Amino acid sequence: MTTPMDTSDGALFAGRYRIIRRLGQGGMARVFLAQDESLHREVAIKVLADRHSDDPHFIERFQREARAAARLNHPNIVQVYDQSQGGMSFIVQEYVEGETLKDLIRRESPLDPRRAITIALQILAALRVAHQQGVIHRDVKPQNILMQPDGKVKVADFGIASAGGDTEMTEAGSIVGTAQYLAPEQARGLTVGPPADLYSVGIVLYEMLSGRVPFEGDTAVNVAMRHVQEAPEPLTDRNPLVPAALESVVMRALAKDPRERYQSADEMGIELDRVRQGLPISDETAVIGAATLAMTQAMRPPAAAAPAETMVAPPLPPRESAPRGGNPNRKRLWILLIVIGVLLLAIAVGAFAFTRGGSDGGGSTSATTSTSSALVEIPNVVGRTQAEATTVLKDLGFDVLITQQASADVPEGQVIQMRPNAGGRVPTGTTIELQVSSGPNVVAVPSVQGAALGDATAQLEALGLLVTTVEDSSDSVAEGNVITQAPSAGVEVKPGSTVTLTVSSGKLASTVPNITKMDINNAQNALIAAGLVLGGQSEANDAAPAGQVISQDPAAGTSLPAGSSVSVVISKGPATIAVPSVINQSRGNAEAALSSAGFTPNAVEQATADPAQDGIVIAQNPAGGSQRAQGSSVTITVGRYTGSTTS
Ligand code: ATP
Ligand code: MG
Repeated sequence: MTTPMDTSDGALFAGRYRIIRRLGQGGMARVFLAQDESLHREVAIKVLADRHSDDPHFIERFQREARAAARLNHPNIVQVYDQSQGGMSFIVQEYVEGETLKDLIRRESPLDPRRAITIALQILAALRVAHQQGVIHRDVKPQNILMQPDGKVKVADFGIASAGGDTEMTEAGSIVGTAQYLAPEQARGLTVGPPADLYSVGIVLYEMLSGRVPFEGDTAVNVAMRHVQEAPEPLTDRNPLVPAALESVVMRALAKDPRERYQSADEMGIELDRVRQGLPISDETAVIGAATLAMTQAMRPPAAAAPAETMVAPPLPPRESAPRGGNPNRKRLWILLIVIGVLLLAIAVGAFAFTRGGSDGGGSTSATTSTSSALVEIPNVVGRTQAEATTVLKDLGFDVLITQQASADVPEGQVIQMRPNAGGRVPTGTTIELQVSSGPNVVAVPSVQGAALGDATAQLEALGLLVTTVEDSSDSVAEGNVITQAPSAGVEVKPGSTVTLTVSSGKLASTVPNITKMDINNAQNALIAAGLVLGGQSEANDAAPAGQVISQDPAAGTSLPAGSSVSVVISKGPATIAVPSVINQSRGNAEAALSSAGFTPNAVEQATADPAQDGIVIAQNPAGGSQRAQGSSVTITVGRYTGSTTS
């Protein structure tokens, strides 16, 4: 028995798609390969699982997001062709032959850095177009990245995640799988922009290069928490073949604060490409990348990790425990649970660290107590000079331990704080720790932007600062002058700190390659190799095969600043029109009908013993009704009466 929603092999789905076989199953849907009987092409149909299909809220979002995704048209994006209207929920997509990036990673990781970069650049090309149209993917993960056998990469499921169904929440593995790629702000339920997708690309790169995602855990909350508060293990520790510059780019993408990450897919793509070419990365990336990694130590005190592990908030409920129907969809619920879990853990860990900090300062440094002595109240010596404070305390029978601490507001030599605090009663002989100001032990970094390197270095060294340089090209800053500095002007640092100067190596020009007549992917690769990026793309009918570049702007040979974009017109293939049926017409009529429809008639004669067929079209190829390119030829077979053939 066939119903319009039958998805068994051979069934005609939705009256139009002949199901060939099942391709896979994700959290919220099953995916089938089918033949579109109307347009004669293979398609992938994503059918919403039954359990979601009676939730009108869910369906409404699923369809709204599919509409947004359907507007996107780019060689690195899985094209959405069609979607259900009304009752049944499905999305018809371009069928991508091949495997997912997850499969490739499982089989071949760690990937060669150049190959990983090539894949990431294609993901970024897809995200760039989507972001420009206001579509945030929200679920960039290797399962949604399809790899064609020819190496072309296509990103699937744009924006569908926000429909509330990127992943089935009743499968523990599945939700943990998605959580592994979520940006901290996503885990915390904040609004997300392009940097959230770029964070996910950072995780995907990390996984390609090391074979493992940086943050793993037993529950989604656990994983999400680690995204929020832990730094990743250095990539180069997991795979020494990863160049340091590439590690910096990945670490910048993984910055906790979205404002520190790359702000656009272009920006990240350009740096990745520089890494591929062996060119230096930006100073900003080096600094932010290092900061992301440095957090490893800061955020991973051995004891503080324990509550994060043990205080895991809501475990995943058993399957089917949630009431059916009428409730908001489970995806939303789960995001909410993750958010609550993360917030609770953040508070718990924060409180714990605070308590620990207090006891460290007080307890451990004043541990030496004499068992037999009387209790004495500790006087307050904060704000007094070191000499005064020491005298007062020693007179009362305490021991004194001095530690120095730079301070901008407490004058040099004065006590900033003491442990244990004043007012407590402790035995004589207890050691009181005094933290004494060593003065404002900082210098403000001067602005050296635009200065010649020699002058800048002299100025910084005079303040006791060290200088390192990296080179970068610049269109506006003359060769040998400072483009940017880190830390920036005004930041207070300790003498002996290093200031990194990015020094201009002059203008970097790229020559536009000839990409006309290339397949769009090869064209894109050629542009990347030349230090350029693919810009606006439009499509037009043309005699050239579909997907081929038919024109480019600017023309080949033009010299442009590196990173500029080149826009292209891509062929959609020749326009097609329906072939008229001319069978049984006279040759003259048939030829006229074909010519006026835009075809080139090509008559061949065939002997016939039937006088009625003389001069009449008895066959045609292609058949009437088929779609053919304008101007293509249609062969008509015209009868020629030859009389009786028996003698
Ligand atoms: P999630 O539910 O979180 O999106 P997922 O991406 O693994 O998880 P689906 O998007 O439902 O799940 O896809 C399931 C599988 O179907 C994919 O792993 C892939 O193998 C296959 N698939 C999906 N879309 C296509 C497509 N357009 N062409 C070919 N295969 C596809
Ligand atoms: Mg998917």
